[in-house]
Amino acid sequence: MTSHLTHSIVSGDRSQPLLELTVDGVLRRAVAAGPDTLALAAPRQGVRLTYAEVDRQVEHLARGLLGAGLRPGDRIGIWAPNCVEWYLTMFAAARAGLVLVNVNPAYRTAELEFALRHVGCRALVYSATLKGSDYVQMLRSLAPEIDTAAPGELACACFPELRLLIQIGGSPTLGTVPFQTVVDDGARRGPGELARISATLDARQPYNIQFTSGTTGLPKGATLTHHNIVNNGFFVAEGLRLTAADRICIPVPMYHCFGMVMGVLGAVTHGAASVYPSDAFDPLAVLQTVESERCTALYGVPTMFIAELGHPRFAEFDLSSLRTGIMAGAPCPIAVMRRVIDEMHMPQVTICYGMTETSPVSFQSDAADPLERRVGTVGRVHPHVEVKIVDAAGEVTPCGTPGELMTRGYSVMQGYWNEPRRTDEAIDAGGWMHTGDIGVIDEHGYCNIVGRVKDMIIRGGENISPREVEEFLYRHPAVLDVAVVGVPDARYGEAVCACIRLREGMVATEDDIREFCNGKIAHYKVPRYVRFVDSFPMTVTGKVQKFLIREQQRNALGLVEESHA
Ligand code: AMP
Repeated sequence: MTSHLTHSIVSGDRSQPLLELTVDGVLRRAVAAGPDTLALAAPRQGVRLTYAEVDRQVEHLARGLLGAGLRPGDRIGIWAPNCVEWYLTMFAAARAGLVLVNVNPAYRTAELEFALRHVGCRALVYSATLKGSDYVQMLRSLAPEIDTAAPGELACACFPELRLLIQIGGSPTLGTVPFQTVVDDGARRGPGELARISATLDARQPYNIQFTSGTTGLPKGATLTHHNIVNNGFFVAEGLRLTAADRICIPVPMYHCFGMVMGVLGAVTHGAASVYPSDAFDPLAVLQTVESERCTALYGVPTMFIAELGHPRFAEFDLSSLRTGIMAGAPCPIAVMRRVIDEMHMPQVTICYGMTETSPVSFQSDAADPLERRVGTVGRVHPHVEVKIVDAAGEVTPCGTPGELMTRGYSVMQGYWNEPRRTDEAIDAGGWMHTGDIGVIDEHGYCNIVGRVKDMIIRGGENISPREVEEFLYRHPAVLDVAVVGVPDARYGEAVCACIRLREGMVATEDDIREFCNGKIAHYKVPRYVRFVDSFPMTVTGKVQKFLIREQQRNALGLVEESHA
C-alpha cells in the first residue's frame, strides 16, 4: 500500500504477473480470441482489417522479408507516417525475429543517415512521399547507387549494410521493391522457414530500437525487448480498463512509443482496435475519425488536445462514444485536462508519464483517482515498476521534496544500441534508470513532474536535444558560437530559440539560418526564434548558463508559462 509514505520510494502492484509473450505472441493471442474483431482501421487509406486478416497479411509479409534475404536479428528500419504498412511491418518484423528500427518521418537527410548507419539497418521500409516531401529524392541524395542497384542487392558507400529498400506508395522506383510485392512474394512461399524461426524466438530478445534525444549530441538508440514493451502496453491498457470492445484513436506517431506501445500494443494485448485518423497529425481528421469510427479512447500529447479543442469546427462533432484516453509526453496543463474531461466526453481520461528508455510508462493516473489528483498529477506508479526520488547526494528524499526521478524494473531498456558508456551513464549498477526529470511524490504515492535536470526541449511532445541543433548550426559558416534553449510557447509548450554569435565581419539573417536548416534537420528542430547576441552569460568556470539565456530570451520575447500537472 502507498497510503502513508514517509519517503519518496514507491513500488507498483504485482498481483497480476508479467506476460512472457513476444510481440507476435500477443498478436496470435488476439487472433485466437477474436479473429473477426476489428484490429485496425485506417479510414484515410480506406482500410479495415480484422485480427484474422492482419494475421494473414503479417504472415505473408514476414515470409516475404525472409525470402528477400533478411535473417533474425537483422535491423529493419521504418521511415513512414502512421499507416497500415507500419502496423503490418511492426508485427511481421516480430514474427520473423527482426529488430524494428523506428525512424521519425520528420527526419531529413542528416538524421536519416545517422540513424541507418548507427544501427546498421539491412532493410528500410519507407513511404514515397509525405506532406509534399520527396523521400525517394532524399534517399537518392544519400545513396545514388539506388538507380543502378538490383532490388534487394543494394551496395552503397553511405550505408554499407543496407541491401533492401521497400517502398510504400508512389510510382515504382528503380532499385527498390514495392511493399505489396514483398507481401505477394511471401504469399507464394511455404510456411516452413518462418515457422522454424518463430519457434526459436524469446520474449527477452531485443526487438525494437527507438531514437531518443538526450542532452548531449546525437540521438541514442534505446533498445527494447519484446518483454519490455509487451508488458508496458498491457499495463497501460489495463489502466484504461480496455476490452475487445474498445477502439483507440491514435493520432500520436507510431515511430514513438506513444503510438506503437501505448497505442497499438495496448490495443492488441486486449484484443481492441487501433484507429489511425491520418498520416500526420490533423485535428480535424481526429474529430472526424472519432465520430465516424465511434472511438472509445483518444490519445494525444497536450498540444494535440489543445488543437482539437480549439478547432473552429469542434462543436460540430459527436464525441459521445469516447470514454477514456491518454494525455502524456509533456507537462499536461490542468485547464486542458478539465476541458478534455468535460467537453470531449472523456470522463476516464488518464495522464501517463514515462520515457522511451522505460518502455515508456512509469506513472499513470486512474479513473478512480479523485479529480484533483487526476488533473494535477501523473498518478501513481505502474505495476511491477519501482520509482524513487533522490537528492543530489543520491539519498531518497522525504515525501513532498523534489529530486531526480529514477525508475527500475522490467520496463527499463536493455541499453543504448552499441553505446555501453552512455548506457552505464543512464542505468546505474543497481538497475535504476536516471530519467533526468525532477519529480515530487506525495504521501499517497501521487507524482508530479516539476522540471528537468537535463536541458532537453519538448516541443509538442517531440524531444529536442539543444546540443544536436547547436552542432548542426555550427556548420553554418557565419556562426561563431551558438546556444539553443527552449522558450515557452502557447501552442507547443516550448519552442526552439537559437542564440547566435556571428563571426567577426560576417552577416546572417534569421531567415538565412532557418533556410540553412530546412531539408537537413527535421522541421520541429528548426529554430522558431533566431537571436543574434554579442556574448553569453557564463559561470566563473566558463560554462554557458543556459537557464539565464532562457530567462533573458523569455523576457525579451515577452513569453509566459502555464501551470501543469
Ligand atoms: P520520450 O522519451 O520521447 O518519451 O520523452 C520522455 C520525456 O518526456 C520525459 O523524460 C519527460 O521529460 C517528458 N514527459 C513525458 N510524459 C510527461 C508528463 N506526463 N508530464 C511531464 N513530462 C513528461
